[in-house]
Parts: sequence; structure tokens; C-alpha cells
Amino acid sequence: MSTCLFCRIIDRSIPSTIVYEDEHALAFQDIHPQAPVHLLVIPRRHIQSVQELEGTDGHLLGHLVQTCVKLSTQRGLGASGYRIVTNSGPDAGQTVFHLHFHLLGGRPLGWPPG
Ligand code: AMP
Ligand code: ZN
Repeated sequence: MSTCLFCRIIDRSIPSTIVYEDEHALAFQDIHPQAPVHLLVIPRRHIQSVQELEGTDGHLLGHLVQTCVKLSTQRGLGASGYRIVTNSGPDAGQTVFHLHFHLLGGRPLGWPPG
């Protein structure tokens, strides 16, 4: 069994609220939401972070971002706006080492982040 939390969400060995899935990607609700909309969009393939992406991963990367945009549009955030963010490594505060894009929206989001 995988020890990666998000791989275990993918294989359903731990529960989560999955809102979207396809051949390459999965999206689910963040367990500690920081905004009215807080989804995590991840690749099915285990990749530690953007730092580990390879030259051939451009299509996958585009697909993950397009998935974020599609989900934000479905949730009515197209006009009000939203944020797509990914943390890589300790200084960014990455806590789960399976690439994920946070999709945040539904309230004004401060900038710069802390
Ligand atoms: P990061 O700090 O960028 O690595 O983000 C990890 C995110 O995963 C955090 O926002 C957590 O709240 C979220 N998270 C941790 N465990 C779970 C879980 N079991 N289901 C959903 N989200 C989770
Ligand atoms: Zn994983």
C-alpha cells in the first residue's frame, strides 16, 4: 500500500470528497478549507512537486491547470476571481509530497501570502 496520502486518496484507501476525476487527474475538497472554495487538483501519477516535473510533462501540467479553471468556472468564480497555487519544498510550506494545485476562491485573497 502506498504511504503517500494523496495516492491513498486516489486508490480510495482513505476517504475524501472527490469532486472531479478523469484519466489523468483528480480533484477533491481540502480537509482544512482556507476559503469558501478550496479544492486540491492532483495528477494520478505520483510526482513529488513541480520540482520533479519532466520536460515531457507539459501536457499533464496544462491539463491540471485547465482542470482548475474548469472547476472554478463551474463554481461561478470566473468573474470574481480565484487563485491557483502550488507549494514546492519546505520554504513554501509543502506538507504533502504529491504534486497538488490549490484552487482557492469565494472571498478576497490577500497578497502577498504570509
Ligand atoms: P501543502 O501544504 O501545499 O502541501 O497542502 C497540503 C494540503 O492538503 C493542505 O491544505 C491540507 O489541508 C490538505 N490535506 C491534508 N490531508 C488531507 C486529506 N486527508 N484530505 C484532503 N486534504 C488534505
Ligand atoms: Zn502520491
